[in-house]
Amino acid sequence: MDFRFSEEEEAYRRELRRFAAKVLAPHYQADDKAAKLRPGLVADMAAMGLTGLRIPERHGGQGASAVLAGMAAEEVGRGDFNAAYLIIVSALVSDVLARHAREEQQADWLPPIASGQVVPALCVTEPGHGTDAAALETRAEPDGDGWRLTGEKTSITLGMAAHTALVLARTGGAGARGVSAFYVDLDDRHVTRAAFDDLGGRSIGRASLHFDGLPVGRDRLIGGPGEGFVSVMQGFDYSRAIIGLACLGAAQSSLDEALQWARDREAFGSPIGTFQGVSFPLAEYATYVRGARHVCYEALWKKDHDLEHSTEAAMAKFWGPKLAAEVIHQCLLTFGHLAYSTESPLGQRLRDVIGLEIGDGTAQVSKLVIARNLLGRAYAP
Ligand SMILES: Cc1cc2nc3c(=O)[nH]c(=O)nc-3n(C[C@H](O)[C@H](O)[C@H](O)COP(=O)(O)OP(=O)(O)OC[C@H]3O[C@@H](n4cnc5c(N)ncnc54)[C@H](O)[C@@H]3O)c2cc1C
Repeated sequence: MDFRFSEEEEAYRRELRRFAAKVLAPHYQADDKAAKLRPGLVADMAAMGLTGLRIPERHGGQGASAVLAGMAAEEVGRGDFNAAYLIIVSALVSDVLARHAREEQQADWLPPIASGQVVPALCVTEPGHGTDAAALETRAEPDGDGWRLTGEKTSITLGMAAHTALVLARTGGAGARGVSAFYVDLDDRHVTRAAFDDLGGRSIGRASLHFDGLPVGRDRLIGGPGEGFVSVMQGFDYSRAIIGLACLGAAQSSLDEALQWARDREAFGSPIGTFQGVSFPLAEYATYVRGARHVCYEALWKKDHDLEHSTEAAMAKFWGPKLAAEVIHQCLLTFGHLAYSTESPLGQRLRDVIGLEIGDGTAQVSKLVIARNLLGRAYAP
């Protein structure tokens, strides 16, 4: 057993950490206030190869391992948690395309995602179906040589800014097997968008997308009819660990800042770190963060080695965001009144990470997966 990352991986981490601190972090709070995607952010992320991490090199991407994609999300999450959405969504969409789209489709669709020219979104959730996504109602009706998409998708990350989307729609009967995946252009008069006014993730945004008979060419179907649901759910299996790491990156920055504050701030003539009431919660959370990181990296390492990893990915997904929210809350309290001001990034980090307690599936869904894997289907909820 070897707990170390390779020298190459450590060098990549150092490069990412510098990038996150110098290029991303200075915009984190201003972008939240502007509440829209800053084009320079996509360009900066693309220039670092972060929009093409899971895209094969022959299609202009990095061909990075799942572990490296997780490392990228963790380091970006330290500087600008919201920028990590660009990694999470583009990795998830491009991973599905790289595994299930035909070679000529990949050659068309993947290079612009890698270069940052095209920002993709993933459209699964609908107003009536979130957790029970397999019951989705958006329809793709055959039309001439292709299809027409009709229905509403909601809560879509990057929904106002995205140029394209991977959309799940029903082409057959009830249930998951009646669902197909399409890769569509969103800049079309048959698509209308409405933004959410969110608590966090404001620089990335969420939106509802209405498809009003959007014409979709036959060549836009990914894989075969009825294969869409399974192909997207397989992608979630590892993106959940990447999400865990993005949240833990934000938690770790907060811990680092709180530890420094515990050295610098004095009360009753001593640094506040000398009070156990201050230092023990930080010691406990540093321990939990380390444990949660290991679970995330274990899931990603297993993915890279073609080993079953749905239990670890589900553990990473429910633990990472929940723990990050708790850690950031504790760090905010460690700073006292100063961190209650919006000048501190801590309040924003807390608002931001809460989004991923819900996005990509709630804790209950993760626990369902874990319980079923541990107990066996007949003995679990
Ligand atoms: C920040 C953010 C980003 C998102 N990005 C995207 C995106 O890019 N694309 C996309 O398609 N969707 C996205 N979503 C939507 C997200 O995937 C859904 O919100 C999520 O799947 C839950 O669905 P729901 O909100 O409709 O809750 P519901 O399914 O209505 O559930 C409500 C509550 O009931 C619980 N519950 C439901 N079923 C069960 C059960 N069987 N057992 C126990 N508890 C249960 C849930 O855990 C939850 O607490 C995003 C959401 C957020 C907040």
